[in-house]
Amino acid sequence: MALVRIEDALLRAREAAAPEVGRGRLAEYIPGLASVDPHQFGMAIASVDGQVHVIGDADVPFSVQSISKVFTLALVVAAEGEEIWKRVSREPSGNPFNSFLQLDQEAGRPRNPFINAGALVVTDRLHAMTGDASGTLRDLMRRESGRADLDMDLDVARSELAAGHRTFAVAHLLASYGNLETSVDEVINQYVAQCALSMTCRELALAGLFLARDGVLSDGSQLLSAREAKRINAVMLTCGTYDSAGEFAYRVGLPAKSGVGGGILAVIPDRGVACVWSPALGPSGSSAAGLAALDAFTTYSDWTVF
Ligand code: GLN
Repeated sequence: MALVRIEDALLRAREAAAPEVGRGRLAEYIPGLASVDPHQFGMAIASVDGQVHVIGDADVPFSVQSISKVFTLALVVAAEGEEIWKRVSREPSGNPFNSFLQLDQEAGRPRNPFINAGALVVTDRLHAMTGDASGTLRDLMRRESGRADLDMDLDVARSELAAGHRTFAVAHLLASYGNLETSVDEVINQYVAQCALSMTCRELALAGLFLARDGVLSDGSQLLSAREAKRINAVMLTCGTYDSAGEFAYRVGLPAKSGVGGGILAVIPDRGVACVWSPALGPSGSSAAGLAALDAFTTYSDWTVF
């Protein structure tokens, strides 16, 4: 099959996604996300040199939700390397992102850092280290995206907090094992704030570039070593899309992280980052149109690891 230029691959991605756009469910369990127009679609490709190509609604902000979990993990690994793996494992989970069933019974260690239980532990560590996990994350996103005023959507954060019984239950379970350093209330405040960051496809693609650049940030400084960046990409490949990680690897073949706001961030090491957004979700809580778009993009361009 002949490979095409990025602009043409983006057109094909949009074409492939079109039948899925608006089909599926919104993340209604977070009231602030229930009113988003599901018929939107945007995609951005940022290359390692900082050039960006976009199509559709790539400049419309959306709720990053679980995509934030990659960045909090990167900040914790940057600060203290392998330490975090004492408190969270890194094996794929065949269960949904909000499962209770993924804590090992002895140590209360969540199965990976991207299911909610694992992400709470990572946020807890970042908060214990910095005193302000969500602010630390927001500052990284501001610097790397180039938008100095990006922030969280307060309605989304408040509504997730008010409806967050399951997240509270998971956090209490972690606390019962002694696997939280801060209080249940504090860790959840920080977690919903990080998930409620509002960013565009263009901004997220730029912010994720250090993962494609062996850990190097936009100012040339090193956030992660090349080995740490490789490892975080590997965890994204195996765990980033929850119980559809196998299907996702089969169709897209890239390390990726999805969020219930409908965004998916995918890394093409040494090439760049793709970010796609369309709010309607498939059964595993990842954007159905986003999956179709990335499938087509990696098929028609040479931006793939396989
Ligand atoms: N904030 C959401 C939750 O905890 C994030 C889930 C997701 O995006 N998969 O349920």
